[in-house]
Amino acid sequence: MLILSGKNAINAIVDLDGTIYRGDRLLDYAKPFFGALEQNGIGYKLFTNCSRRTPAELAADLRGMGLDARESDIVTTGCIARSYIRGAGESAMKAAAGSAMGTARGSAMEATAESAMEAAGGAGGAAAWETARAKIGGRALVYAIGSDSFKRRIKADNAELAENPGLVADYAVVGFCTDFTYGDLSRAMWHIDGGARFIATNLDETIPFGRGAVPHTGAICAFLERASGQKPINLGKPSRLAGEYFRGVFGQKRVFVVGDRIDTDMLFAENNGFAGCLVLTGIATRRDAESLERRSFDIFADLRGLSEFLARHSEG
Ligand SMILES: [Mg+2]
Repeated sequence: MLILSGKNAINAIVDLDGTIYRGDRLLDYAKPFFGALEQNGIGYKLFTNCSRRTPAELAADLRGMGLDARESDIVTTGCIARSYIRGAGESAMKAAAGSAMGTARGSAMEATAESAMEAAGGAGGAAAWETARAKIGGRALVYAIGSDSFKRRIKADNAELAENPGLVADYAVVGFCTDFTYGDLSRAMWHIDGGARFIATNLDETIPFGRGAVPHTGAICAFLERASGQKPINLGKPSRLAGEYFRGVFGQKRVFVVGDRIDTDMLFAENNGFAGCLVLTGIATRRDAESLERRSFDIFADLRGLSEFLARHSEG
């Protein structure tokens, strides 16, 4: 439950869709809510499970709705994927410096000897692989399904996108997009089969759109999981890896999560030892929340209710 004391030592992670806005409309009380956070000295990040749009694009969307949002206020699971790849790359480099080639890389080498040979013009298996790897200068090789801006940002982060079919990627990352093809899924599967780490930016099955819901990133991953037999590593809510990212941002300060979904936002809070504040302006209803056998979060009708709570508990 949310306990406010020592108000300067508390931070908020605030969901977007169903919490701050719905469709292209800012929800009532969203603006005063951020005023309340600032008034009470509460730092915050806006956090969405969707990796399709970048923080800069989302900030522009929010400004278009009338909220004064900055790029640096926003975290997407695309940011977490980039950070994960960077971090894992750094530890892999350290490990490689202290030992011979790891077994994972060894097996990837075996699996791709033939295709690496092709890529290097048929000049001998392992040597060809090494030559091909050398061309990317030790950067992580990432095969990504996702929006163009998502892929651009991975590339800007000193990782190389696996466009050469002769190389097996270190990571096969799935972000949300709506224009991937069967060919893209097949290539992702080859990389996963070859030893690439299978990463999901979230495992949400659906996302509200148009007259109902449409398949989300979790559904795309399910296709690959079924075909490859490999389970993805989830970097989105409710994972502990997402919590790890925010511990990096907020340090040891206490954190509360505001969101409209129990299965992602509130479970994310619970899994990471954060307080949870459910708002009933999106997916979850009061009935959903109250019918749980055990509930670890507070319920607020909307952001006004939460703002009032913050004001009441921060007085004095
Ligand atoms: Mg939401």
